Amino acid sequence: MRVGHGYDLHRLEPLAPHGTGKPFVLGGVHFDHPSGPVAHSDGDALLHAITDALLGALGMPDIGRLFPDSDAAHRDADSTIFLREAIRRMRAAGFSIGNLDCTVICEAPKIGPRRDAIVSNLANLLGCPESLINVKGKTHEKVDAVGEGRAIEVHTVVLLRRSTSSSD
Ligand code: MG
Repeated sequence: MRVGHGYDLHRLEPLAPHGTGKPFVLGGVHFDHPSGPVAHSDGDALLHAITDALLGALGMPDIGRLFPDSDAAHRDADSTIFLREAIRRMRAAGFSIGNLDCTVICEAPKIGPRRDAIVSNLANLLGCPESLINVKGKTHEKVDAVGEGRAIEVHTVVLLRRSTSSSD
């Protein structure tokens, strides 16, 4: 078995034309919200943190090294591209998802009402049952940048199980 941890934070700003925030997307699910992440890609902090957890469990280079934000090819990129590459590497290394636990911290929007949609989308992407995926939403109690609605933060932990024989 392997364990991986992922973390991501994105600054939140008003959407254009009032700011440079991009439409709010989390776990591949879009939210109707007046602010969104400042990012080179689409800024999906949950998909970024899951991607890093998978890559970390595999002992591979992190998302910033695999997909540098200096690469124009990733501008406004759908972050499922990053996660799909991490999943491809996981399977190639002979592993499958044991379980995935995610904590999303932001003051708004509320994650709860879209939680089931996020879990369903993640299960589809990861090719595993929804029962192996947990997503929790929390606030930062109005303190610091996250609590003031100026950022979103995500922590993830993933357990991988060896699914095929391998010499690794
Ligand atoms: Mg990110």
